[in-house]
Amino acid sequence: MPFETPSILLVEDEIAIRDSVEAYLHAEGYLVRSVGDGRAAVDAFSNGNFQLVILDLMLPGITGEEVIRFIRDRSNVPVIMLTAKTSVDNRIDGLELGADDYVPKPFSPRELMARVRALIRRSRNSTEPQRDVLEFDGLIIDVPTHQVSVDGHDVKLTQSEFDLLLTLARFPGRVYQRMELIEKAFGYDYEGYERTVDSHMKNLRAKLGDNSAEPRWLFTVHGIGYRFMKPNSAVKPSF
Ligand code: CA
Repeated sequence: MPFETPSILLVEDEIAIRDSVEAYLHAEGYLVRSVGDGRAAVDAFSNGNFQLVILDLMLPGITGEEVIRFIRDRSNVPVIMLTAKTSVDNRIDGLELGADDYVPKPFSPRELMARVRALIRRSRNSTEPQRDVLEFDGLIIDVPTHQVSVDGHDVKLTQSEFDLLLTLARFPGRVYQRMELIEKAFGYDYEGYERTVDSHMKNLRAKLGDNSAEPRWLFTVHGIGYRFMKPNSAVKPSF
């Protein structure tokens, strides 16, 4: 067996949704620990070893926002947020707190399962045993171990931030549109959520200490999207 069966922490206070999602996860072969409030989520996370967390934002007691802060202080485990809040701003808030993805309610369990599979695949891919290190002017990306450092200091990235950075850094100078970046970095269609990229990019810049007004690595291409470093920055001039 190349991998252990992934264990998923499911945090949802609505029993009908929790039971339904749990049944789907079991059918997919995952181990599931289900809890119904934020305090139980924090306890379960502290005492368990999970490969993914599905977290409802609106919880009694300790909120989903507080739970994800607790998790992010300790771990880069992939987190999918479930949210009944419908405005884009609230969904983006979840990403800025460090969620890798979010699924707005009401959602189809199939859609949620597709995202679970994609995130677990991405986190496994990043632990494949192969030597692959990218280095750029103070920024080092060690692909197999998932470690990123800036000027010798380790930087902790979420799965989505890492995937986004790696996608860009694979092709320095190349301009990516937001949708293209979503497809290439996350591997599935994120239709309608282009602002997701902006939110992850904001986090990424903050963590790398990169300044959007005077970037070292992450450049905004106005009206289009993003690119990593200047064109030809990784290539010697030919004249
Ligand atoms: Ca809820």
